[in-house]
Amino acid sequence: MADLIKKAAGDIAASRKIVALTGAGISVESGIPPFRGKGGVWEKFDPMEYAHIDAFMRDPEKVWRALIGEMKSTLDTARPNDAHLGLARLESLGYLQTVITQNVDGLHQMAGNSDVIEFHGSFAVMECLECRREIDTADVTLEEMPPKCMCGGILRPACIFFGELIPPEHLTRSQAISARCDLMLVVGTSAVVQPAAFMPVIAKQSGATVIEINPESTPLTHTTSDYLLKGRAGDVMNALLQEIEPPA
Ligand code: NAD
Ligand code: ZN
Repeated sequence: MADLIKKAAGDIAASRKIVALTGAGISVESGIPPFRGKGGVWEKFDPMEYAHIDAFMRDPEKVWRALIGEMKSTLDTARPNDAHLGLARLESLGYLQTVITQNVDGLHQMAGNSDVIEFHGSFAVMECLECRREIDTADVTLEEMPPKCMCGGILRPACIFFGELIPPEHLTRSQAISARCDLMLVVGTSAVVQPAAFMPVIAKQSGATVIEINPESTPLTHTTSDYLLKGRAGDVMNALLQEIEPPA
């Protein structure tokens, strides 16, 4: 592993147009559970019953009580961890350009990355189903379920449910920058949700080096990635930065 960290640090230091693709795993060390796998939200909920747009439209109160309310309580107080901060550092050192994230938690922006594509939208804002007004999630209270806009309309998060389309401008830009990057870091994503999981394939086909950071291997591991740095995102990022800028 120490050898692979050295190799990755060298590959990063030789790059100027790095793109990071991140998933729920990068926020696990901030106390936000992922969807799949051990401790994942889907151990408690059936996704189709709670996270599909049809389920929400059929019974918004049920979905707010079970899923959205709990997400709001978790995300309201979540802070960036060493992995988010490490990616921000790679930007300030001039290596990393853009973060494409499947997460809706806003932690990359909070850590200081300036160009973040929120592939699945953002949980930081709620939208009224009636008048389309946007309200900061931090200003929404859970006293009334489901929470409502001042016009009486029901609020929904500004991220996509299953059964909804990726905003086309996010998809087009993500594909374009994946094709232009010289290195892609794939951090904490199970790489099974499309079309996000296709971005590393585009990067690889365009000649970029693809490095995964994950405690588990994924469908990309022996097919698309050049190598896997096996471990928790925060620990691996700290080891990489130690190597890239050793303490004086
Ligand atoms: P996922 O839940 O499918 O998979 C999580 C991945 O993270 C797994 O591969 C797991 O091995 C890995 N992982 C677990 N702990 C880790 C750690 N400490 N460091 C690094 N990796 C770790 O995640 P996904 O592929 O991003 O799934 C997609 C959907 O889940 C996305 O659409 C996203 O919007 C949504 N989601 C977002 C959040 C969030 O905003 N934080 C949280 C849960 C789910
Ligand atoms: Zn309204």
